[in-house]
Amino acid sequence: MSIPVLTCPRCSREWQITGDGRVCCSSCGYETDSYTGAVEYIKMHEGLEIHNDIYAESKLPIYECPACDALALLNRTEASINAGFQFLCFSCGSQWSDNELERCPECIQWKPGEEFEELIICRSAVGFYVCRACYEKIFK
Ligand SMILES: [Zn+2]
Ligand SMILES: [Zn+2]
Ligand SMILES: [Zn+2]
Repeated sequence: MSIPVLTCPRCSREWQITGDGRVCCSSCGYETDSYTGAVEYIKMHEGLEIHNDIYAESKLPIYECPACDALALLNRTEASINAGFQFLCFSCGSQWSDNELERCPECIQWKPGEEFEELIICRSAVGFYVCRACYEKIFK
């Protein structure tokens, strides 16, 4: 799958995710790191008001990418879903659809569904699923 071409926030021409942690525009030369790129995307497309006092990583729908570990995975809201992907990493350009990633209740990051392990709590019949990284941490 090819990396989607975004719209440059400065000149509205093509804004390309380079795949190595940058997003750059060849028309006006605007280039930024992947996290800032994701923030710019939210500002432009999600209609989200970003005030300085909520300008915190935890308040934005940006998560760690399960493919490259960069904090640049954007979970798009319904308002902007029409390109066929729900999750887009601004660092490596990976994309996932809605049902391909699940949120780990332990580390609250999005991970591919097949990476989940069932955690059986002692003497409880009910298990819950955590991502493999959290599972390994718990059973170390
Ligand atoms: Zn531009
Ligand atoms: Zn990535
Ligand atoms: Zn986890």
